[in-house]
Amino acid sequence: MAPSPLLSVQDLRVEFITPTGPVCAVDNVSFDIAPGEVLGLAGESGSGKSTVAMAIMRLLRPPAVITGGHVYFAGQDVLAMNEEQLRAFRWRKMALVFQSAMTALNPVLTIGEQISDPIIAHDGVTPAQAMERAAALLKLVNIDSSRLNSYPHQLSGGMRQRVVIAIAMALKPPFLIMDEPTTALDVVVQREILQQIAELKERLGFSILFITHDLSLIAEFSTRIAILYAGKLAETARAKDLFSDPKHPYTQGLLGSFPSVRGPRRKLQGIPGSPPDMRNPPAGCRFHPRCPQAFATCQNELPVLREIAPEHRGACHLY
Ligand code: SF4
Repeated sequence: MAPSPLLSVQDLRVEFITPTGPVCAVDNVSFDIAPGEVLGLAGESGSGKSTVAMAIMRLLRPPAVITGGHVYFAGQDVLAMNEEQLRAFRWRKMALVFQSAMTALNPVLTIGEQISDPIIAHDGVTPAQAMERAAALLKLVNIDSSRLNSYPHQLSGGMRQRVVIAIAMALKPPFLIMDEPTTALDVVVQREILQQIAELKERLGFSILFITHDLSLIAEFSTRIAILYAGKLAETARAKDLFSDPKHPYTQGLLGSFPSVRGPRRKLQGIPGSPPDMRNPPAGCRFHPRCPQAFATCQNELPVLREIAPEHRGACHLY
């Protein structure tokens, strides 16, 4: 029997209220994440990935509004929490690792001060006790505690990203959302950071929602993968099934867009065209103007996400 989910997102809908009417950025998105599981949420820029993350943590600001669905964390209704409950939920139960370490960190505070800050605010310990815990957290991400007095500009890009991860782990939450945590880093450092995250996950057992536009990054790392296109889920499956047998033409296009390191050399295909204008998305399947397998039905009927193989769901009229 599958373990009860730690996070359950059901029919989540987010709209941006604009002068010309609402624009739906996230449309009926549902997924579960079990304790210790890593779900990779992938899609092109603008597909709604970060909006999903911000909605789960109730961090959206107007004009973005959650207009439907439910988010449950360990059975608690996150969308019904008041400010006090949210304060207890964020950081202690779920923390967010932002994508740009340079902008996520405060340039005029030392690393030690920035890691201590949430510890003092949430646990009410003295600054000296918080600094001790900050040193232990730095060690956990392989940074020497002598760096506690450094400022962000004195660290490399990879070290800054590790500090952001240490800050997210300050209260040892059982769930982390990582929003493109390696985007601004070169490939070697990307790899190191991913290994570091995988090791920490093994040791501490937290769950991760890992958001990326780069499917190759999450191949080995994720338990399951969900593909988002124009605010809707196109396909969800166990990671190994999605890579060995992608069903949805969009997923096939994404996988055809990056080279295989170990496999034979092949011509990269890419996906023609660009994602739709969400103020005026195409009728029927939102992917149909770019889909090499589209047929007449695709232009008028919206495909529904359904089980198309064991533990494998897809939203496509081909199935
Ligand atoms: Fe392509 Fe049609 Fe499937 Fe959409 S529903 S992905 S247009 S085949």
